[in-house]
Amino acid sequence: MSQNRVAYFYEPDVGNFHYGVGHPMKPHRLSLTHNLVFNYNLHKKMDIFRPYQATAYDMTRFHSEDYIHFLQRITPTNKAGFASSFHKFSVGDDSPIFPGLFNFCSMYTGASLQGAVMLNNKLCDIAVNWSGGLHHAKKFEASGFCYVNDIVIAILELLKYHARVLYIDIDIHHGDGVQEAFYFTDRVMTVSFHKYGNFFFPGTGDMYELGDETGKYYSLNVPLHDGIDDQTYIALFKPVIQGVMQKYQPTAIVLQCGADSLAHDRLGCFSLSIKGHGECVNFVKSFGVPLLVLGGGGYTIRNVSRCWTYETALLVNEPVDEKIPITTDYYGFFAPDYQLCPAMSGNFSNQNSKSYVDSIRQTVFDHLKFVQSAPSVQMQDTPPDIFSFEPDNEDDNLDERLETGKREANNEFYNGEHDVDKTNTEKPHPSALSAAQNKPKEINSEKSKEKNTG
Ligand SMILES: [Zn+2]
Repeated sequence: MSQNRVAYFYEPDVGNFHYGVGHPMKPHRLSLTHNLVFNYNLHKKMDIFRPYQATAYDMTRFHSEDYIHFLQRITPTNKAGFASSFHKFSVGDDSPIFPGLFNFCSMYTGASLQGAVMLNNKLCDIAVNWSGGLHHAKKFEASGFCYVNDIVIAILELLKYHARVLYIDIDIHHGDGVQEAFYFTDRVMTVSFHKYGNFFFPGTGDMYELGDETGKYYSLNVPLHDGIDDQTYIALFKPVIQGVMQKYQPTAIVLQCGADSLAHDRLGCFSLSIKGHGECVNFVKSFGVPLLVLGGGGYTIRNVSRCWTYETALLVNEPVDEKIPITTDYYGFFAPDYQLCPAMSGNFSNQNSKSYVDSIRQTVFDHLKFVQSAPSVQMQDTPPDIFSFEPDNEDDNLDERLETGKREANNEFYNGEHDVDKTNTEKPHPSALSAAQNKPKEINSEKSKEKNTG
């Protein structure tokens, strides 16, 4: 099997944003992940890019202008003057206004967008953006820690070149923002596996939400109960995805890898292990379809970083040692076992009985019968790529910053654990850095050849 070309997007500053004291969403998990990826030398197997930063214009490809304009202007110091807009745009509590909010959105959205553009132009087979996957954001408002829906924006970009895009969501929460955006079209099929019931956020995603009009049967939901384990989850995931792939035949896939479906997540109630979660990622990869891999939820940050590092290794086909490298800056986080994939028996017993799982599988397959085989579309003249790469995002200090993958971080993010703060002496692969600066410039000249594929 030929090696996949994997593009990995990492903005060194993205881990330095703070939602606020006590908030479960900690962007610092991205610094942990990146540092671990580097200490496992996985960067040598990928092209590393400091991503494009999305503009307000890019965001309004999906979101309303007044909402994005609000995100651009609001700061913790001026927010009193915007109090009347807080309710309208659903910000304040779960989705707080924190310093640099718009920059944070630009970074994670720009990386997903660049991943889509590079996949469209066949510059990589797999694009990875662990900072993305903020699946709850809606057209007019924030929701569930998500402000800008990078997934919808990336899928819109993929649709310029791809007739059918499959979206798969393994976060513990329903991928409601993405489903809603594409509810009326058969160009995007959304498949979400999530906890459903007992008012679990966001409260949507029962198995009879199927899409509507042209999109009817192109939204698929797999509602699950507490404590689902690897065996039960995979026994649903694989046949459902296999069935969708056979019927829908997508030409690109976006996979949201929310890690709050792992056992012991601070907000979750599933019992998946890292290996079980990773098996789903590997299964999706095995179809060999252009793949955009994104992060998502995940609130026990040592396990989030373990999971996404393990999954990066799977994506680049590289076996990794079970022992966390002692050179990792955040080694103390991984006590007491210092394992990449520790045993993780969950706190919740499996409430998904065999008869329940069988009934969901049957219902999903009944719905799949109505999916048209590889629905085709009349591809219109393709609008230009959403941005052209310019060399102006070169960063003289990138070498040094990628070297450590770590910046000063607020102690809040250490959760009381000790940071041993070792220095990583590995440098990123030189060709990766030159690729980051040069390769994207070729994109526009290739664009016209790739139109109307899929
Ligand atoms: Zn989630």
